[in-house]
Amino acid sequence: MDRLPRARKRFGQNFLASAGTIEKISRKAGELADGDVLEIGPGRGALTAALIESGLRVTAVEIDRDLVVYLRDRFRESSFSIEEADILKVRFADLLGGLDIPRADRFLVVGNLPYNISKPVVRKLVDERETVSGAVLMFQKEVAKRLTASPGSRDYGPLGIFAGLFYRIQAWFDLAPGNFRPAPKVTSTVTLWERRDDPFLDPASEQRFRTCLEVCFRNRRQTLFNNLRHGLAGGEPAARELLEEADLDGRARAESLEPATFHSLARLWPEALPE
Ligand code: SAM
Repeated sequence: MDRLPRARKRFGQNFLASAGTIEKISRKAGELADGDVLEIGPGRGALTAALIESGLRVTAVEIDRDLVVYLRDRFRESSFSIEEADILKVRFADLLGGLDIPRADRFLVVGNLPYNISKPVVRKLVDERETVSGAVLMFQKEVAKRLTASPGSRDYGPLGIFAGLFYRIQAWFDLAPGNFRPAPKVTSTVTLWERRDDPFLDPASEQRFRTCLEVCFRNRRQTLFNNLRHGLAGGEPAARELLEEADLDGRARAESLEPATFHSLARLWPEALPE
């Protein structure tokens, strides 16, 4: 294919056009990956080419058929494979299973994500963490702030607390709209994810923990007590009992509590209630 496929708005296509940034990300991926990279949304292959160049095997998932055809042809001689699919509908393990490489058991996930799928991708990284060693991912700056916020910050909330249980996430650097073609309206942030080998949440408690976060952050301006009394089926008495058992001050706001405190609270969450 001689001509580059055109950019499609509906797939969130803003292609990276900064050679320095492409080089920086691919060098970091080379340091962090154990050979295999899963690239989400390779687009026209700006990053893909640099990843391959640094000696990585790239498995890519791209939703846009024209781009898939273009990339298959462009990288036909390279250690590159691509699946035409919605990343939210494929399992990472199935992609790994399709590789003819016995030593690969985890991917480094890399991508300049279309912003409309940020949250489900975060959820996927958590749910399928068995096949992920870490990630180098670009998000809209606001989402990156939420992923990396500390207690006390107004960006601190369920998204970052939950993902933070399983990964150490840090904001690496920001990118202004001018680094993309076409330019998006927002600033982007590249984030680094390292999978924790010692998550302090056992899998059986995951749903309970999620529910606990949802209830506690239901209304950020409200006290913990008010959120609990509205969110627990047992109402006010259940809220009082839970706070007492957890030795927590109900006047506090959820955004001031450490992740470990939510963990304790989730462990005491009333058993009989639907989660
Ligand atoms: N990585 C390229 C770059 O930096 O130039 C493209 C980034 S662009 C922001 C996002 C890419 O993800 C596009 O190529 C788009 O077609 C693709 N995409 C959008 N939604 C997707 C989905 N659900 N699954 C897989 N790819 C998707």
